[in-house]
Amino acid sequence: MHNIVLIAIDTQRPDHLGCYGYDRPTSPRLDAFAAAGATFEALWSASNFTAPAFTSLFTGQYPNHHGVFNFQSRAESSPVSDCLKANGVRMGGAVAFRFFNRLLGKVWSEVEAVTDTRSFNYDKRLPAAVSDAGIEWLQAHGHEGPFALFLHFDGPHMPYRLPDEHAHRFGDVSAADVPADIVDMLFPQHLEVVEQGHARRGGGMFALTEAVDRGRRRLDDTTLQWMVDRYDDSVFYNDQQVGRVFDAIEDLNLADDTVVCVISDHGEELMGHGHLSHAGIHLYDDVIRTVGLVRGPGLPAGRRIARPTSHVQLWPWLLRLAGADHLPTTWQDLDLLNESLTSPVFCVGEFKAAVRCGDHKLIRRRIIPQHGLVKKLRLWAKMALLRELGDELFDMAADPAETMNLASERSLRDRMRRLLDEHLASPVAAIGLSTAADLDAAEKARIEKEMKDLGYM
Ligand SMILES: [Zn+2]
Repeated sequence: MHNIVLIAIDTQRPDHLGCYGYDRPTSPRLDAFAAAGATFEALWSASNFTAPAFTSLFTGQYPNHHGVFNFQSRAESSPVSDCLKANGVRMGGAVAFRFFNRLLGKVWSEVEAVTDTRSFNYDKRLPAAVSDAGIEWLQAHGHEGPFALFLHFDGPHMPYRLPDEHAHRFGDVSAADVPADIVDMLFPQHLEVVEQGHARRGGGMFALTEAVDRGRRRLDDTTLQWMVDRYDDSVFYNDQQVGRVFDAIEDLNLADDTVVCVISDHGEELMGHGHLSHAGIHLYDDVIRTVGLVRGPGLPAGRRIARPTSHVQLWPWLLRLAGADHLPTTWQDLDLLNESLTSPVFCVGEFKAAVRCGDHKLIRRRIIPQHGLVKKLRLWAKMALLRELGDELFDMAADPAETMNLASERSLRDRMRRLLDEHLASPVAAIGLSTAADLDAAEKARIEKEMKDLGYM
């Protein structure tokens, strides 16, 4: 079979890339890559934050089936890695966040975290370190038989730590015109500032996004533009580093025998619906629509796939595309290029769940059943306070920005509700079983510290 390289760029919104219509030159390497392959216009993450999103990607299961909603649990098995092993494929990986070692520890045979320091000094050259590790791996193993390589770039994830030459590429808003605490938090220039900043402000980025959510903190247009500029700076820097991996695949004469796929795990809210970041309540496309670019032997150049597709379908399809044997029967007819397929896709967050079928999308409140009563009540209270309890129904063709709620159209809403309810009530899918595992206390404390430093807690 052919080789597979899967590149994930964390927090990358597709609409901030040229190949998805962005008007800033943020992504020359990805744009050229997209022109030579297939572009998925409506590829959905299975959730709105990193842990459930990647678990779904690597197991082919939705979060309501695998049950992993944090970094303290993980999938114990995956039909994806089972299939790769059955085909004698060597697996490798280089990731920007250390907690991936644990998250994917049972479903991917070899994952190297290129840094132990992301959570402590926010290494400015982390994307370059991932590229270096990926290229070294390809040089060492690229000609030893079929391989599958997974690379995870931290992408435009807050805080925006960048090498100086990339730090002010876009925009002309001066940091002096932005509140100093926001600059400190989102664009820390010194290691000490990050550590002290978190301690001093008790929660850092999470506190900021929470304050914005609850309307206690307002971001003026200048501040928001400055944030978007730094986001775009990060997009460009990651694009350059991903491009180095593309170059290595060419230089090592692997391109004709390798399927290369570039995705993001989720997007990022940049105040489109009055909120920031990801991992919160919302399941708007700002945060769940992802990048999906694929190039490889036999794939037509310049193809754009408009129909809704899901991350849970991606590995099964890539394996089929690469010519793998031993595919589970449910994967054998899966052709993501077939525009006539109309099956719905789903997204399951901690607070809400969503379904997309054709042009229509329904978002509905649904707290995950794993939470205890107290946590559930707390989440309900938060949604009630933010007036987030009602259904939202959108026509994505007419209203891609999700501004006109059509939930009053009862027959359509009821039909979409039924699709979502049937999915949520369905038993664990036929494509494998995974369960969350407990951690020892020290490991748990270490992961919690990392999550805090990344701004999630
Ligand atoms: Zn992520």
